[in-house]
Amino acid sequence: MRYFPVFVDLRDQRVVFAGAGRTAIAKLRLLLKSEAHIEVFASDAAVQVQRWHAAGTLVWQPRALCAADLLGATLVYAASGEPTEDLRVADLARTADVLCNVVDNLQASRFLTPAIVDRDPVTVAIGTEGTAPVLARQIKADIEDALAANLGNLARAAARLRERVARYPRGAWRRRFWRAFFAADGKRALTVNDAASAATGDAANEAAIGALLERHASGNVEPGRIALVGAGPGDPELLTLRATRVLRDADVVLYDRLVDPRILELARREAHFEEVGKSPAFRSGPTPRSWTQGDINARCIEHARNGHRVVRLKSGDPLIFGRADEELDAFEAAGFECEIVPGITAAIAASAALRRSLTRRGRNSEVRLVSAHDVDGYAEQDWRAMAAPGAVTALYMGVRAARFVQGRLMLFGAEPHMPVSIVENASREDERVLSGQLCELDALFRQHQVTGPAVIFTGLAARADVSSQHIERAAALVCGATAGAIPGASLTAAQLRG
Ligand code: SAH
Repeated sequence: MRYFPVFVDLRDQRVVFAGAGRTAIAKLRLLLKSEAHIEVFASDAAVQVQRWHAAGTLVWQPRALCAADLLGATLVYAASGEPTEDLRVADLARTADVLCNVVDNLQASRFLTPAIVDRDPVTVAIGTEGTAPVLARQIKADIEDALAANLGNLARAAARLRERVARYPRGAWRRRFWRAFFAADGKRALTVNDAASAATGDAANEAAIGALLERHASGNVEPGRIALVGAGPGDPELLTLRATRVLRDADVVLYDRLVDPRILELARREAHFEEVGKSPAFRSGPTPRSWTQGDINARCIEHARNGHRVVRLKSGDPLIFGRADEELDAFEAAGFECEIVPGITAAIAASAALRRSLTRRGRNSEVRLVSAHDVDGYAEQDWRAMAAPGAVTALYMGVRAARFVQGRLMLFGAEPHMPVSIVENASREDERVLSGQLCELDALFRQHQVTGPAVIFTGLAARADVSSQHIERAAALVCGATAGAIPGASLTAAQLRG
């Protein structure tokens, strides 16, 4: 982020414009929403600017801007529309150390003006660092649609209430009250269609809001809740709507190491976040802290007992290789019912990356989801079934187990040419698809230095049209005759089959 968004207090501040034509007017309209004193310098002014001047909305000085005009200015807009004049103003501003925006000239500007959605006092600013103004306008239109026109009234009502709410307990109670207020109760309590009365806080509205406060105050403190939520494979767009809602309502988010940071951003910024990662077996390098399953269960319960809405956020689907039963048992024993929000498991996102059906008439009518290791190390599986022609298996947690898996499958009779594929970081920007044959599985991993989370498919190749940027085929490794040289398969394929 090169440009950091901030909101500047412009009440009674001087904002100076050099230019009073079309270029300036577009920006002036925005600035006139603020409480700044606006001064415009230009020998000629468009009729609109003259009208504003006549109405006392701004002051127009019919001459070019000079250095002295910048004294005490908070912002300057070089908006004459003439490049040389704008650069002269930008130079003066730099000398006077006043932030300057040169309209339509990113390089010469020290700040940018965002696209704005105005629900005063709620303001949404959208910036693209000058890369895509049209995109900014589209986003603005979407947000305009999403935010009620009278949202500002609700915010103003909240401001009036703040002092009264401050008499009630801090923390969870207040958060719950505000959540109810903004989600529904506040809107109902206000006669929202009557903007004037809502804005000034007329007696009827105040009474309704008072009653709302009483109701919350007298109610028993709502017990905490726990939700086991699937965060999906990474791309936030692959979250369910329910996961998004539950996450947005969370007071506490306990998340796994593999949960994508972009998903955490969907929770409230004030929520309490804790990474409760278990360091995977085979993982090298230091981990900040490796949580035991017991610690994680206890932590969730502790937060729920404090009345919090706890989201236990797991990558993919919470019920696949996530030890969810142990967590559910513990929550239940502690008296907490747990909502379960399914997610898209890694194998599903990975097969989408291959653009291959996981099942196929005449090939396989079953799919195995297999963990390549368990708590004790490499896991033994029904290798014979996995090795059978046409069998399709998705292996999780297999990055360090490729050699073992390759060896085992070949030992149990799999064809060395059985198609395999690896999908690393499925659904994320750095997603990679590698395709090859079973006899080169381990080599594929090493050659391409797969270090991110990956699903290995045996019995399934990527569709040929998977874009060549995504697909990286291993350099042709000769199988069969040289199988004996392949790590993990210390016997030749023929010997193995024998
Ligand atoms: N509950 C998760 C699985 C957790 S086990 C789910 O349903 O997906 C962790 C394993 O999931 C990783 O070792 C890896 O095999 C797989 N995994 C998780 N996210 C992945 C991703 N974005 N791409 C590929 N594999 C992923």
